[in-house]
Amino acid sequence: MAKRLQGKVALITGGARGIGAAAARLFSQHGAKVVIADIRSDIQLESGHPVSYVHCDVADDSDMQAAVDTAVSTHGKLDIMYSNAGIIEKKVGILSVDHQEFRKMFDVNVYGSFLAAKHAARVMIPEKSGTILLTGSVATATYGGAPHVYAASKHAVVGLAKNLCVELGQFGIRVNCISPFGAATPMNEEWIGLDEKALEEMFSAVGNLKGVVLKPEDVAEAALNLVSDESKYLSGLNLLVDGGYCLKSAY
Ligand code: NAD
Repeated sequence: MAKRLQGKVALITGGARGIGAAAARLFSQHGAKVVIADIRSDIQLESGHPVSYVHCDVADDSDMQAAVDTAVSTHGKLDIMYSNAGIIEKKVGILSVDHQEFRKMFDVNVYGSFLAAKHAARVMIPEKSGTILLTGSVATATYGGAPHVYAASKHAVVGLAKNLCVELGQFGIRVNCISPFGAATPMNEEWIGLDEKALEEMFSAVGNLKGVVLKPEDVAEAALNLVSDESKYLSGLNLLVDGGYCLKSAY
């Protein structure tokens, strides 16, 4: 297998489980030195993957600063920031949206992405290289399915990625966003209350592309494509990993 991230250093927020863990596994298989930054320390990775872990609440400026500094002090640099950590809230009508929950969602999904990008940029700008990948959702391109605050927060992340793409282009830093369709991850198991098999059946039933099921590993493969040097001229994208779902649901 050609190693597409050989010699690279990647920090993945929310890499303890779900899509982030799949990315940590894949990136390390492709030769990257991976640092996982998460509030959870029970990392769902088989042994044999040379990843390191730093405790980090992405919504805390000093935690995010320390996570980036740990990656640099341990491995000498930071090439890839994959801001993947995110949370979802229960779906309620607009009259029932709780202010505390609204703030928490924006703290983690939006401010957490902002801090990840800020501290990555702090060490990437002097090197005049690097790539930052933020995480949206199909909720950035389709409407009514996700909770209001989650949808609003993910739109904010796409806006942030596009704005950053313009500021950081002068330093050779690429900024993109990845927006997955539904995959069976612990987040969705907890949010929807179904097990992996039932979630996959549910997503497959509503999905556009039949005969395949979106796995966290498929999102990780798309992320690998975006952060690898083969995509050296891709910046400012919001890549929908949705099998065409958003086009279908636009009708
Ligand atoms: P997950 O809950 O399975 O994993 C998310 C990880 O983020 C966890 O390890 C969690 O501990 C960590 N995390 C949460 N809050 C954190 C914080 N404040 N600081 C640091 N780490 C924190 O979720 P997932 O399904 O793998 O989702 C990953 C990302 O993909 C999220 O941003 C989510 O919104 C997005 N997404 C997921 C889906 C999906 O279907 N799974 C679809 C669209 C977008």
